[in-house]
Amino acid sequence: MKVDDLIVYGKSKVHSDLAKMLLADLMDVNSLELLTILDKEVPEDIENTYKYRVSELQKGRPIQYIIGNVNFCGNILDINENVLIPRFETEQLVVNTVEKINELWPNQIVDLIDLGTGSGAIGLSIKKKLPHINVTLLDISNNALEVAKSNASKLNLEVKYIENDMLENIANKYDVIVSNPPYIKTNEEIEDIVKNNEPHLALYAGDDGLDCYKKILSHVKENIKDKYLIAFEIGDTQKEDLYTLASIYLTNYNIECIKDFSNRDRMIFIWNK
Ligand code: GLN
Repeated sequence: MKVDDLIVYGKSKVHSDLAKMLLADLMDVNSLELLTILDKEVPEDIENTYKYRVSELQKGRPIQYIIGNVNFCGNILDINENVLIPRFETEQLVVNTVEKINELWPNQIVDLIDLGTGSGAIGLSIKKKLPHINVTLLDISNNALEVAKSNASKLNLEVKYIENDMLENIANKYDVIVSNPPYIKTNEEIEDIVKNNEPHLALYAGDDGLDCYKKILSHVKENIKDKYLIAFEIGDTQKEDLYTLASIYLTNYNIECIKDFSNRDRMIFIWNK
């Protein structure tokens, strides 16, 4: 079949944008270039894979897992079902964290740890933007760390890895702690495509969705230097909870909540100069 025929086939089963994305990926072109090769005959093995992938999409598997990578902060990151699909909102966490690091430690070397790194999205993107700093990627899941390691090597980035449950029994001190931990409440309604496909370990954090923040903040004093920055992504209803948790576990700090592009409270920065 020709490219055009396969687009028509895909469109009859799934959203046309998704059909084009799948075929473009398999033909090794971008979605725009695909439209310039509509008459091209598609090899049979590609046609079969395409049809199989269309059926996977129909079953509700996210396209990012089917294609196997995402563009995050301009870097192509490989992903699989062992890691959360990096989100656009998290790119804002990266941008704001880099800004804060530059403000607090201009051109200085800092030690940064990304807690619950998953695919490595946050830590690797920060390392790419600030190559002079020391970055450690931590995750409880060995399978996730394997994904992060492979992404680091593809991006040619040198970072350290720790397999651990957040900061439990970690003695090292860091200047910067950054994390987009699980923060969904056990009973919270979320989209089926998320709930049925992404790792629950990366999504859920107890009845109030705060388990990971508590886990991190209750230990954090032993793991931060005198001058520090803690940067969290949060759920859009969790701002006040985070302000309260900070007041329980820390003294003499600055705290700021930053909104995402949809004007929702999505990032918390806690720092001490
Ligand atoms: N830190 C990773 C990300 O932001 C994974 C987050 C998670 O699994 N909760 O994509």
